[in-house]
Amino acid sequence: MKKAFLTKQQAEKIAQTYPTPFHIYDEKGIIENVKAVNEAFAWNKGFREYFAVKATPNPVLMDILLKNGCGFDCSSMAELVLSKSLGAEGERIMFSSNDTPAEEFLYAEKIGATINLDDFTHIKYLEDIGACFPETMSCRYNPGGVFEMSNGIMDNPGDSKYGMTEDQMAEAFTILQKKGVKHFGIHAFLASNTVTNEYYPKLAGELFNLAVRLHEKTGADIAFINLSGGVGIPYLPDQKPNDIRKIGEGVHEKYDEILIPAGLNNVKIFSEMGRFMMGPYGALVTKAIHEKHIYKEYIGVDACAANLMRPAMYGSYHHITVLGKENDECTETYDIVGSLCENNDKFAIDRKLPKIDMGDYLFIHDTGAHGFAMGYNYNGRLWSAELLLKENGNVECIRRPETLRDYFATFDELPVYKSIEEELKNI
Ligand SMILES: *Cc1c(COP(=O)(O)O)cnc(C)c1O
Repeated sequence: MKKAFLTKQQAEKIAQTYPTPFHIYDEKGIIENVKAVNEAFAWNKGFREYFAVKATPNPVLMDILLKNGCGFDCSSMAELVLSKSLGAEGERIMFSSNDTPAEEFLYAEKIGATINLDDFTHIKYLEDIGACFPETMSCRYNPGGVFEMSNGIMDNPGDSKYGMTEDQMAEAFTILQKKGVKHFGIHAFLASNTVTNEYYPKLAGELFNLAVRLHEKTGADIAFINLSGGVGIPYLPDQKPNDIRKIGEGVHEKYDEILIPAGLNNVKIFSEMGRFMMGPYGALVTKAIHEKHIYKEYIGVDACAANLMRPAMYGSYHHITVLGKENDECTETYDIVGSLCENNDKFAIDRKLPKIDMGDYLFIHDTGAHGFAMGYNYNGRLWSAELLLKENGNVECIRRPETLRDYFATFDELPVYKSIEEELKNI
């Protein structure tokens, strides 16, 4: 069973200061998990988790991870600026972008981030924009085809836009060495949200073998292997969570089996997990404000898909706990909906839940990664607050809610802006 990390009493109290909807994060859960990740890979001297900033780009949360030894994996200018502003040293920033604009490469290079090239043609692109080639660089690999694990979980690297072929990797390493690059990383992201302990070890096996081949072929020093993201979390209540200790052990076995005999015994292991680091430790808390009885039973809440896009975009399941009714029988079948003029604005469809009364607080689970971050402003809906439930039980506001003033701010050069400002005083 999935358990909310907030009680009804807590939610009511918090809502007095910070009205719903809000995303809230569980500091204790985040810290315990990051420690477990570091322990699982402690056998590797250079291990580092580079938190995928895109999952949850909040400086307070990022700082918790930074203080626990993590670096940051960035994919855009904003993420680079955020990471640098938190005091992350160059070596703690990985730039795993794709289709990257020139100014982002140049800034990444300037702050000493490790650039992970998504494509072979980016070598020429870097030259053309006048970038330097630092001593350490990384290249992203795509083996093509289908990546399949024993329990039927699979993904399609052959259909994905990322990475280079093996031949391109070899050529890139050769050319980059001539340009003065001395140390190389290999990166691949081949399957998403894998709820199995098998993914990282299998991926590691493939990348370790690739590392040996590339080292033999090009003479390049392989400094690190970046297993990237893709380690999943159990969104469904009957799924078994991944065991990061077992995952770490599985990668260790492959390391001893493949890299050590090849003499590559100083290779550092990196990860770039987002979902696994934050997903379960965030929730969207929203209040039931309408009920509607037509051909189905609907509960309207004060959050909408602009606050959490995953169900509308991917049809994702997010578990819902009606706070205070944790032990009630699920006698009703509801669609839980938001206010967007879009019929896919549903947090749950045909969901068995206890009877919901107006004013009940719904705790939408597992929104800590790719949740708030994927928000948007459709229908003029505003970004919610982000709150942190501290280890000591206090609640800290780590991002204030967006206001209409923020929403209209980019019209500030238009004549109508003055009238908008005046009108806002009437609300
Ligand atoms: C999205 C992404 C990640 C994080 O993926 P998760 O599934 O959230 O762990 C890591 N690296 C890259 C390059 C990504 O695009």
